[in-house]
Amino acid sequence: MLDAIPVTEIKGVGQETAKDLADLNIHSVEDLLLHFPYRYDDNQVRPLTDARHEEKITVEGKVHSEPSLRYFGKKKSRLSFRAFIDEWLIQVVAFNRPYLKKQLDVGDVVTLTGKWDQYKASITVSDIIKGRQKSDRPFEPVYSVKGKLSVKQMRMFMTRAFDKWVATSTDFIPESIRESYKLPERRQAMQWLHFPDDQHHLKHARRRMVYEELLLFQLKMQALKKVKRTGDMNRSITIPGDDVRHFIRDLSFELTGAQNRVVQEIMRDLSGHYHMNRLLQGDVGSGKTIVAAIALYAVIKAGYQGALMVPTEILAEQHAESFDELFADYDITVALLTSTVKGKRRATVLQQLQQGNIDLVIGTHALIQEDVDFHNLGLVITDEQHRFGVGQRRVLRDKGENPDVLYMTATPIPRTLAISAFGDMDVSTIDEMPEGRKKVKTYWARHEQIERVLSFVEDELKQGRQAYVVCPLIEESEQLDVQNAIDVHAMLQQHFHHRQIGLMHGRLTNEEKESVMDAFKDKHTDILVSTTVVEVGVNIPNATMMVIYDAQRFGLAQLHQLRGRVGRGSEQSYCLLIADAKSEVAQERMRIMTETTDGFELSEYDLKLRGPGDFFGQKQSGLPDFKIADIVHDHKALEVARKDAEQMIHSDSFWQDKAYQGLREYLNSIGVFDHQRLD
Ligand code: ADP
Ligand code: MG
Repeated sequence: MLDAIPVTEIKGVGQETAKDLADLNIHSVEDLLLHFPYRYDDNQVRPLTDARHEEKITVEGKVHSEPSLRYFGKKKSRLSFRAFIDEWLIQVVAFNRPYLKKQLDVGDVVTLTGKWDQYKASITVSDIIKGRQKSDRPFEPVYSVKGKLSVKQMRMFMTRAFDKWVATSTDFIPESIRESYKLPERRQAMQWLHFPDDQHHLKHARRRMVYEELLLFQLKMQALKKVKRTGDMNRSITIPGDDVRHFIRDLSFELTGAQNRVVQEIMRDLSGHYHMNRLLQGDVGSGKTIVAAIALYAVIKAGYQGALMVPTEILAEQHAESFDELFADYDITVALLTSTVKGKRRATVLQQLQQGNIDLVIGTHALIQEDVDFHNLGLVITDEQHRFGVGQRRVLRDKGENPDVLYMTATPIPRTLAISAFGDMDVSTIDEMPEGRKKVKTYWARHEQIERVLSFVEDELKQGRQAYVVCPLIEESEQLDVQNAIDVHAMLQQHFHHRQIGLMHGRLTNEEKESVMDAFKDKHTDILVSTTVVEVGVNIPNATMMVIYDAQRFGLAQLHQLRGRVGRGSEQSYCLLIADAKSEVAQERMRIMTETTDGFELSEYDLKLRGPGDFFGQKQSGLPDFKIADIVHDHKALEVARKDAEQMIHSDSFWQDKAYQGLREYLNSIGVFDHQRLD
């Protein structure tokens, strides 16, 4: 398999070149061959009359006037001459190629590639060849390169790799599939992509490689989804059903139908033969935490440890507190492990975890650090999953213990994104709010109406309620975010001199954050001014008012998350968006926010308004990095591949027939399925 052949096997690839290739994520010959051109230069000689203004074109003609050369600056020069192209006399300009003056004579045949200016009747050339075009390739592939690598070298390596390894290779996609989708053979597709001859072939070749990439991806997802319990984790957890039912009965509220359903789904996973790998979707406030608690309770009572991972320290503290309370009567030991837990305390927690004296640990990313060892970790839950990258997800899974995993997210995910980013998971959805919830009433105000906004806030405070005031978000500058919060805090203190006002932002130490949060929770403060650090998960039901400054700066998903901090009890809650939204898109966003409280609806808008890259936030898109496929453009192929992959692994022919042998071997070689049949 070409994955096992290092690029250094290719003639001409030395250590230095290998390093540059590695920067492009190219390590094996297979990687190289899958590094497809990102565009093609069209070098076909065409008639000038075909060219559009500003288009890049290759034409053939004769030099008509002696080239004249002008220097400007020290190294810059401009060479120009007239040329006859298809009976037209045009001007040719070449920058910084003074040597051409000596090479070109009147009457010479030249092939010119460059940008055509229709109005000046001139070409600014990027390439001049004396004589007729020699290249027999009308399209030249252009590859992305790094370091000292050149595109020319890349082309050379491709040729060598192709001739040596691909030219005689067989296809691992069975003929029957290729035929039914009319896909070219792999060898043919590779050839067309790297050594193209016409557009039509390119299109077909691309279709083939897109399908291949997506099919392999979906097969991998199927394999990941189904990890058999093995070794000493070769147990399906024996759920103490009665205990769990008691626990649920003793809760202070009744579970919603949707909560009950997802609890069942989780229990079935826990007692099944495969590890649980499940995504739990539910809008903000739908009650995911208690579902997590029930799952953890079951696993702990069955004799295992549990871990709950969250994206912020504030959330970790909050969960630790509420789980402590929830489990108080059930002989379950809960520990907090964040960066605040240091020194001796930390050492103790780690030791207790290793010895199995702690049943449940709650923390931030610190949890996946290497020095954390468990006695017998049975279940890991990550809350607000969309805030974690795929990488972090894997680390956790690969921690050796291979626990059951439940990922919770409040960001409803449009379908195409879900099957690509979370295709390796089963999905449960809580699509029902606890009874008695009122929709958060949302209004949009302008800055000049701030007095009215503040008197609205005061009305709520008089009823004994509390309010959040979230400050403008300045992308890229935490410093300015903090300053904003300080300014707004000062302004509000003047306005509400009879009220207690808290201030929360990312520059506070964790201890400070904790005490600010506690003061708000214990109703010592009436208003909490904050940056977006309160965005996720915070649960203080007495807060019924959310004011968001410069709301136009936030994306819909984020506004929805922020709004989700209120409306968590039975009181009517309000969200006031302060925004001088000037652009149409911004106005549209404000309008949508006032009209719907449905997270799924909002997520579809968000995808439309901002595109998929932005969907999960810039940094950690959570989306796989495809080499040739594009999940938005190729969404149909993605669906087809998913169906095919699912069908394949459930068919005998996939596991037995000779037609699939190549594919099976290929998958085994990249560590998928590991020679084991899934069922
Ligand atoms: P989220 O899904 O956003 O994480 P939470 O789990 O924080 O939501 O729940 C929001 C609030 O709803 C909490 O105060 C929780 O106690 C309460 N809650 C959860 N389930 C129910 C229910 N079935 N009936 C009433 N209240 C519930
Ligand atoms: Mg939550």
